[in-house]
Amino acid sequence: MSILEEELKELRQCVPRVIADSTVEACVPAMVRVKIEKTKYKQITACFQFDPQYPKSRALIELKSRYISEKLLDGLTKLSEELADKNLGKPQVLHVLRFVRNFIDENPLCCCSEEISNVKKKLIEGTDELKLRQKTSSVVLKVKEGQYYLKYNLTVPENYPDQQIKIEEKECNYPPVFRRWFLAQSVEIARQCVEPPKKKKPKDPPFVLRPSMEPVVSFLIDEAHRYVNSECKMCRKKAFPDDPKAVELDEYGALHVERVYCGHIYHYKCLDTYIKTPPFQKGKMCHTCGSRIFHDKWKLTAETVEARWAHKQAKQRELDEVVDFLS
Ligand SMILES: [Zn+2]
Ligand SMILES: [Zn+2]
Repeated sequence: MSILEEELKELRQCVPRVIADSTVEACVPAMVRVKIEKTKYKQITACFQFDPQYPKSRALIELKSRYISEKLLDGLTKLSEELADKNLGKPQVLHVLRFVRNFIDENPLCCCSEEISNVKKKLIEGTDELKLRQKTSSVVLKVKEGQYYLKYNLTVPENYPDQQIKIEEKECNYPPVFRRWFLAQSVEIARQCVEPPKKKKPKDPPFVLRPSMEPVVSFLIDEAHRYVNSECKMCRKKAFPDDPKAVELDEYGALHVERVYCGHIYHYKCLDTYIKTPPFQKGKMCHTCGSRIFHDKWKLTAETVEARWAHKQAKQRELDEVVDFLS
């Protein structure tokens, strides 16, 4: 029996025992293929091919995965090749399989590597950062705009993405209205990734579960950069003071910054004056986008009661999630 055939025989017997969650899909001289699947998203298939000189030459190694980013797989393949090189003249396959299996265990964030490399492109160099903490299966996101910043801790659970990421605000010096919005809305976005809508409309496409890391991080990056330099379209002045310490905290103070339902911002006094000035018939439109202005501080006309109710329901759900999360 050739060295290769002996190695193959050994692999058939011991791979299922020593490599957890593995399936030997092929084990013949033309190819060895082993699938390691810890969860649906933490899965790597390792393929090996051998030239006639094997094991004096290195096995040809190919790693495949549906959910692990190409860049990460390339890196892993290089490391696997180095490992095989160290074992020239001896059986190489089991060493590589052990290495791949350990990698999956020690790098729980590998299940969102694609998402992480996508959101990294959105970070503004020099001010924003995303740090990976493999030990706690979490990432720390810092986003800065002017003198305003937020720092969030996002934890990826074991059964991600079936279960959404856990979201925690660590630091944030935005005005309270915005802090609440950032947190409540990111929790809501993550929930919507894994839970079908409570009331399904007949025309809605069937619900598909989605990974929640990228939508949440994208939202936080966009929102944190969005408001700081925006102007109040009524008075044409910047709505946020340059110094976060100068933020108006009185909810009814003239310069208190209001975020209306469409997402645009105004000073309290500017918006109040506009809303209380006729004409009233067609409702009040946002100066930036033309959507109707919705805001809990101002009473609405009868025809919008239903819309307001729906908005309130959504708000309540966001709040419940936050309370739930903090308890
Ligand atoms: Zn204003
Ligand atoms: Zn608007």
